[in-house]
This record gives sequence, structure tokens and C-alpha cells, in this order.
Amino acid sequence: MSSNKTKYISTEILTCNDLGISRAVQILKNGGTVAFPTETVYGLGADATNSEAIEKVYQAKGRPKNNPLIIHVKDKTMAEHYVEMDSLTSKLSTSFWPGPLTVILKKNPLTSKERITEKALSKLKTVAIRVPAHPVARKILCLFGKPIAAPSANLSGKLSTTRFEDVVMCLSGKVDAIVDGGPCPIGVESTILTIENGQLTILRPGKITEEEIKSIIGKIKYKKEINKNKITSPGQFESHYCPETPIRLNVLHPRKNELVLAFGPLPQGFNGLTLSKISDPNEAAMNLYSALADLDNLAKTTQSNSIAIHPIPLQGIGIAINDRLRRAAKRL
Ligand code: AMP
Ligand code: MG
Repeated sequence: MSSNKTKYISTEILTCNDLGISRAVQILKNGGTVAFPTETVYGLGADATNSEAIEKVYQAKGRPKNNPLIIHVKDKTMAEHYVEMDSLTSKLSTSFWPGPLTVILKKNPLTSKERITEKALSKLKTVAIRVPAHPVARKILCLFGKPIAAPSANLSGKLSTTRFEDVVMCLSGKVDAIVDGGPCPIGVESTILTIENGQLTILRPGKITEEEIKSIIGKIKYKKEINKNKITSPGQFESHYCPETPIRLNVLHPRKNELVLAFGPLPQGFNGLTLSKISDPNEAAMNLYSALADLDNLAKTTQSNSIAIHPIPLQGIGIAINDRLRRAAKRL
């Protein structure tokens, strides 16, 4: 059979109790794929040391092979086994792990049986590694005892998922199991940073902000923006997180036939949703992907051909929200 052919597999729906979690771990040990909640977004997990399992993740997501996966570990000690941790990273991890910070680090030499498969790293010599804080993700990692590669649980290029129902919509029939862990509390993907030659660069903004990182690292050469001509991380594609309906950003006066995604109360006379009635940026981040998914569906049943989005202040987690919206607005 051609490897391009879509293969439908039956997807087990698991409850996030002890029974569901031990079944999820059993599936991972057998080389299967399991979507589970993290504090940022849902992840699609597989054994990071098993190249066949990793192949299934790329297949299910339709993810380009040159886009490596974030590796999740249960704690700093497990991270130290797989990657080289310098004193700066160690400091950062003490402050932010478990939590939504991913650090790109050189991999340690390990035996072929033990090492993270090249397939998960797109043949890079580095590993993007993090320790998630979500109790379900932590329990799975502790019971599994090995690193889990877990990119966001969505189809490549489309909206990330922060609700169980959205994961079911996009991945059922493509993955072995989905754990129902309710909505993800943060709602935007982890902050990714890299440190090279004593220079720290944020590759993807997230819940952990530049200010918070600066307050820990003190004086270090610090670069905020990535060089647009040099893609350090293959996943920094400009178009990403795309709903099917075109979106317009920073709109104060929506057009008559548009759906509105508000920050603050929904303006009178318009159809749409609000990210946060009280203009709370953390609430807005938590609702971001689910609101876009709902408006995308609503657009299909109404005469709306675009979604107008209110401006969201460029500070704190608002920087991450604006980053995702900018990519969502960009079409290839
Ligand atoms: P996601 O698919 O949402 O989990 O995003 C993971 C991001 O991390 C993508 O942008 C990847 O390209 C990036 N990434 C993963 N591993 C590495 C690595 N070793 N070096 C640089 N970027 C990485
Ligand atoms: Mg993703």
C-alpha cells in the first residue's frame, strides 16, 4: 500500500482517571500515538525513542519531515540525561520547570537503544525540550518513564487545539487514543528559546515573557527577534495556526457582514464571540484557539466571509496572542 494513502484507525477515547492514563501509557509503550492535554495546548504524543511511533505522529498531522518535535520529559534530571544543560539553562529550568518553557539544547551522546530518534529531531543535533506542568501530562510521563515527543495535536498548519472536542474533530481516525482532560489552562504554545554563544533568543513567544526570562538570567546578550532570513527553527513558518475563514487583525470598526472576535464586550449588532469580556489577556489566550475554531464553523453557516479581530495589547501574554494571530492571518 502507498504510504501516502490515508489510513483510518480506530481511536480510543480515554478518561483522565488512573485507568485511562494507564491505558494511554500502555499504548505509548506499544509504539502508538496518544493525544493528551498539557497546560499550553493538547499534544500528540509518541515514544521519542521509537522511530516507527514518531513516523505515525508525522503521518497523523501531515507534518513536514523537516519540522522537528518538542520532546517532553518528566523532570530536570531526565532532561539532563538527554541534553547538555549549561548553568544558564539550569537556572532557567529551576525557575520555569515544570511549565511552559521549551529550551533548545545540544543532545547528549547515548546508545542507539536509548537515544531520541533522529526522526523526531529532523536530524538536528539539538533537542527542543520541556517539562510540562499539566497533571495529566506529568502522570503519563512519570508512568512512561521515557521522553515523549509531543507536537501540538492538530493538523499541520491549522489551529492548535485547546479543547478535547477539537482534538476529536481533527485527529479521530488518525491516532490511537485521545485523553479527555478538559480545556488547557494557558491556551497558547510554550515559549521557545535558544542560547548560542552566550546569546539568548526567543524563537516563539509564550506565556513566559521576555521580562520574566530577563529577571532570571540577569546580564546576558539578548536578542528578542529572530532573523527573518535565517530560520533557526524549521517550524517558524510565517503561515501557521490558520482557520479556513480569512481573518483581519486590529479591527476597531468591523464590516457589516463580518464575524467579530472581540477583546472586551462583543459590540452590539454584531455576530461573534469575545476572547474575554473583561479584557483579561490570560483569559483571552485560554479562549483563543477554541474561539477561532467556533467562529470558523459559524462562518460556514452564516453569510460571513471574514473574521474581524479587535486589537489585543502587545504586552505579557498578549505578545504571544498577537504572534499567533499574525501567522493565522498570513495565507500561503
Ligand atoms: P509544535 O509543533 O507546535 O509543538 O511546535 C514545535 C516547534 O518547535 C516548531 O516550531 C519546531 O520547529 C520547533 N523545534 C522543535 N525542535 C527543534 C529543534 N531541535 N531546534 C529548533 N526548533 C525546534
Ligand atoms: Mg504546532
